Order: sequence, then C-alpha cells, then structure tokens
Amino acid sequence: MTDTLSNKVNLNLEEQGSTSYSYEEILPLKQRIEVLEQHANDLQARENRLQNELNDHRISLAEAKSRSQTFELLLNELRQADTRFRELFSLAPVAYASINGSGIIENINLAGTSILRYPSSSLLQSPFSDYLDSADIPVYTEHLRSVSSSSLSLKCKVTLKCADNTLRPVMLVTTAIRARQIGALSYQIMMIDITHQLETENRLHKAKDYLEKLAHHDALTHLPNRMKFTDDLHSSIAQAKSGNQKLALLYFDLDGFKPVNDTLGHQAGDKVLCEIADRLRSYVNNNVSVARLGGDEFTLILRGTADADEAVLFANALATQIKQPILVDDNEVHVSSSIGVSVFPDHARTANELIQGADAAMYRAKRIDRGCVNLCSRESTAIANRRSIIETTLAKAIQDEQFELYFQPIYTTKTLTINSVEALVRWHHPDLGMLSPAEFIPLAEKSQRIVELGKWIVNAACKQARSWHDEGIFTPIAINVSTSELMYADFYSVITEALTKNQLPSKSLEFEITESAIMSDKHVGTSTLQQMRDAGHIISIDDFGTGHSSLARLAQLPVSRLKIDKTFMDDLDNSAESRAIVRSIVVMAHELGLEVVSEGIEQSSQLEFLETIGCDAVQGFMMSRAKLPDAVTRLMRLDKQKISGLCRDLPQPLLERVSS
Ligand code: C2E
Ligand code: MG
Ligand code: MG
Repeated sequence: MTDTLSNKVNLNLEEQGSTSYSYEEILPLKQRIEVLEQHANDLQARENRLQNELNDHRISLAEAKSRSQTFELLLNELRQADTRFRELFSLAPVAYASINGSGIIENINLAGTSILRYPSSSLLQSPFSDYLDSADIPVYTEHLRSVSSSSLSLKCKVTLKCADNTLRPVMLVTTAIRARQIGALSYQIMMIDITHQLETENRLHKAKDYLEKLAHHDALTHLPNRMKFTDDLHSSIAQAKSGNQKLALLYFDLDGFKPVNDTLGHQAGDKVLCEIADRLRSYVNNNVSVARLGGDEFTLILRGTADADEAVLFANALATQIKQPILVDDNEVHVSSSIGVSVFPDHARTANELIQGADAAMYRAKRIDRGCVNLCSRESTAIANRRSIIETTLAKAIQDEQFELYFQPIYTTKTLTINSVEALVRWHHPDLGMLSPAEFIPLAEKSQRIVELGKWIVNAACKQARSWHDEGIFTPIAINVSTSELMYADFYSVITEALTKNQLPSKSLEFEITESAIMSDKHVGTSTLQQMRDAGHIISIDDFGTGHSSLARLAQLPVSRLKIDKTFMDDLDNSAESRAIVRSIVVMAHELGLEVVSEGIEQSSQLEFLETIGCDAVQGFMMSRAKLPDAVTRLMRLDKQKISGLCRDLPQPLLERVSS
C-alpha cells in the first residue's frame, strides 16, 4: 500500500512533468505519505476489526433474543405449573401443611384446615406443635429430628387438638425439604386422619379378644372351657410339684338335668346350667378354679388341699349347694350332682391320669349311687383305664373289622313266631375279650366313630339279610341307630347303597332309635327318619319310657313302633304302677296307630300280662338271647311244636294258642 501510494505520488509528479523536485524535497513528503499510508492501513484494520466485532455482536444479540424468548416460555410454563401446584396443594383431598425449620406453619391446604377445623388465617405463622395433644409433643419433636436427617418421608402417629375441642388421631408423613442455595430447612407434612382406621383396629382387637375368650371360655356360662381347664390343670400340677403340695380335681356331672331339658326345653336347661355355674363360680379364689367341660359336666381344681378327706368334704359341701332348688320361670327345678374326686399325687401324677381318675370316680358315683361323691380308687381307675383302652383302640378295630353282629329274635306275642330280628353288635377285643355294645357304643358316640362303625353294621346286616334271603328266609333285620348317624348327611345313602349292593328291598331293614336320642333335639335327623320311612323302612322308638317323650311330638314323628324299655318289665310282677304304665303305653300307642314291642321278657308272667293287654310283640331272654346267625336260622326253622317245647314254662292258655 505504501509503495503504491508513493508510486502514485511519483507518477503524479512525473505527469505534471514540467517541474522536477529534488530528492530532499520529496523525501519528507514521501515520509508523510508513508505515515499517512500507515495511518490509513491502521484505520482499515480497525475498521475490519470493528466490522468483525459488529458481526459478532449481531450474532450474540440474536442468540440472546432467542434465549430470552425460550426463557420467557419456560418461565410461563413454570408459572402455570406453580399455579397448578398451588391449586392442587390447596384443593388436594389430603391434608398438607408446610412448616419452616422452626416449626411455624407457612402454608396449609384446605383439607389441612378442615382437619384442624381452624381457618387458615389462625393457623398460618403459628407453631404446628400448638395443635398437638401435649402428650405427643416429645414424639413430634423426635419425629422432626429424624426426618431432618433422612432423605425419606417418615411417619408418626399423633393426636391433633381441633378447634371444635375434639381430639383427632392422625398419621403424619413428613418430608424434609432443604433449599439448595441457601440450605434453609422446611418440612412438608401430610396429615392422614386415622380415626376410622383406629376404630377398625379397635374393633379388630376387641374381636380378637372376644375370639380368644371364646376359645378359652364356654359361651353359655362364661366359665373357662375344656381347653383352659387343661392348661390350668397342667400349671396347677407344676405349681403343686414345685411347692411340694397336693391338689384335688373334682369332676361333676349333673343328675336330673336331662329331664329338665326334655320337659321344660333347652332354654330352661340353659338357665339351670348358668345357675349351677354361678354357684360354682362363687367358690373361685386363688386356690380354686372352675370350668365347664361341656353339657352338664363341670370341673373344679382345688389347689393346696391337705388330703383326700378334705377334698371329699369340700365336694360334699358343693353337692349340697348344687342340690338347692332352682327357680326357672316359676318352675322349681331340682338337680343334683355326682362328683368324682382324684388327688395329686395320691391317685395320679399327671394331668391326664388325674382327669381319668376323677372321671372314673364320677362315673362310678353315677352308676352306684347317683348324686354322691366318690373318691378315686383302684377300681374306678381300672374302669377309667379300660375306657381309655376302648377309646384308643376303636379306630383300628373298625379298620380291622373286629366286630360281629348277633341277632335277637322279636316274636309276635299271639303266635310266638319270629317277626323280625334285632342286630346287636359285639366287639372281639384283642386284649379285653368280648365287649358288650353297652360298654363301647356310648364311647363310640362320644368320639363320633359311631358313624364309621354304623356303616360297617349296616353293610354287615345287609350281607346277612342277603344270605337269609338266599336260604328263603325273609325276616327283617332291625338296626340300632345313634343320633350322630342320623345327623350324618350321607347316612341315608349308606343304607340305600348297602341295599342295592345286596339286591335287597327296603323292608329288609328296620331301624331303632332311642327315645332319649330322638327327644334330645327337636329336629335331630327328622328329615332322614322321614326319608327312611318314605322308603318303606319301619322305624321304632327304642327304650321307650326312659326318655321323657312328649305325646304331641310322638304323634309327629315318622315312627311305626314303640319298644317299651326293660326296666318296666322288671317291675311288672311287683308293681301295680308299672303294670298301669305299660297298659297305658300300649293303649296310647295303639290310639296313635303304633305297634308295641316289649323288651327284656325273662319270665312267663311278664309274657302272660303282655299278651292280655294286647302288646303286639315281645323280645327277651325267655324266648332267645342274641345269637350268631346260624343259631338264629335254626330258631327260625323251628316249627310251632318245637317253639312251645322251647318255652316249656309258657302259661297254659298261651301254650295252647301257640301250639294250635
Ligand atoms: P337295645 O337296642 O335296647 O337292645 C336290647 C338290649 O337288651 C341288648 O343288649 C339285649 O341283649 C338286651 N336284652 C334283650 N332281652 C333281654 C332280657 O330278657 N334280659 C336282659 N337282661 N337283657 C336283654 P346289648 O346287646 O348289650 O345291647 C345294649 C344296647 O347297645 C342296645 O340296647 C343298643 O342301644 C346298643 N346297641 C347294640 N347294638 C348296637 C348297634 O349295632 N348300633 C348301635 N348304635 N347301638 C347298638
Ligand atoms: Mg334296640
Ligand atoms: Mg332297647
């Protein structure tokens, strides 16, 4: 550039041509030109720089503008989000409060104010702790301390004091919030009203307590039940062992309770049980605990007794108390108790042995002399052991079919011909020998094993009926049935299956149910009985006269026959009253369209009387005991002459009629 300019100067000078300048004259000029050139160059460079900077600034300005627009957008969105959050916070159905690091309420939503029942104006800027039950303040303070050192939300239960003077249980769920730049601490508290939850928990607790109580107490009398009694007995024995003391177990069974139930109804029976329970309860103290095992069975544990004599004295005093009349709806009811007593360690050293001893002594008291106290003895313990062997071996015996059916003929009184046979079960016990049903059936009923045993009996009876049918003998077999079998839903199908399997008509089987069983519960198995009668089976009420029947009920039952109990036969000869009763039963039964069978005929005088009063059929050792099938078959095949020969001491008129 400098060159160019000086050249230009030179050129111009030359063009003007006429005048020529000396070098000395030109030099300063040149120098000035060069300076000017330099200056021009500098200016050019600056201009370029400025131009560049300007360009740069233009770009930054555009960027800044665009950024500012984005920022503006974000800010708007943020504002909207904040508004939305505030709306949500304020209208959220969950109660929220924000408190600052000093516990002052800075914000609270609508749900928060409504839970506390204060307007937000009184809540804001006041300490949150002001609204807590004073007992909860230490819990709350500790809660905030834990929250501030945790990144999690933590919970704590407190009670709020509300404006309406109510106390409201809430669950606080608190989160600590730390502002990033300045590090200020605040808390976001969610308050969940747990009134209903606590009420439900309370109800659950109560229900749990109630169930617990139910599991250990008898619902009717509220006395401890069998489970609690067993626990008490174990701990009492442990205590007696460690203190080197004795204890007595008294086992009660009420006498005369069943008739109350049967004649006055279950409600009256319940009242009697509650009254007896109250009388026993009055003896309860640190040394005495009482329980109801079920039905009319009660127990009493007497801790620290001196000896068996003292325990028996105590039992006698109780028996006297129990004997006092009880007033039930204007009826004076009299019940007594048979009490068995066993003493630790004299009679037994374990709870089970002690129970068995007392139970056996009670059982003996009942059999020998109702309403008395009986002390555990070697004999009663032996009975208890025998019962326990029977109970524990019953299941296996059914599985191994250790049973056999015997059959006792039932005779038509007028002709003394066999009209049916009663199946009576026997048990060939591997250790105890032949057992009578009178001994094991009640135990099988108690353990419900009777249902399985009953199935076996029905099948065995059907097999025998099939075999007799094949020999041309069509005598029906009467089967004894227990209440539990009737209650068992499938009992009727057990019968029909056994009949079908053996191709037998329904009339091959008859059924007997005891009067006490049928009367014990108004609805027991009535539908099954009806089903059985409808199918063509004859149903008899067994042991009639012992179970306090109501005539009205008798007429409604689907039965065809009454079997008068043996106890009435025993007194026939000596008691005009018994004769009158039996005569009336026969008349009444006939009026109701029922047949009458008398059981337990052992003497011809009984037979004669029954014949004269028109009793339809008889059964007893006089004619035949229960026998094995072959022996019964021989009896069935006997002709009338032989029957009369068999009953040599039959009264003459009867003998003539039978032989004619
Ligand atoms: P039950 O049904 O009243 O049977 C009559 C009982 O009296 C039978 O006793 C029978 O042998 C006895 N007996 C009959 N005639 C006379 C007599 O002239 N004198 C005396 N002293 N006794 C006589 P068993 O066989 O010991 O049965 C007793 C009870 O056991 C039966 O009384 C019945 O209630 C029950 N039982 C027997 N077999 C069964 C059964 O298969 N199932 C059920 N559930 N119970 C049964
Ligand atoms: Mg019977
Ligand atoms: Mg009977």
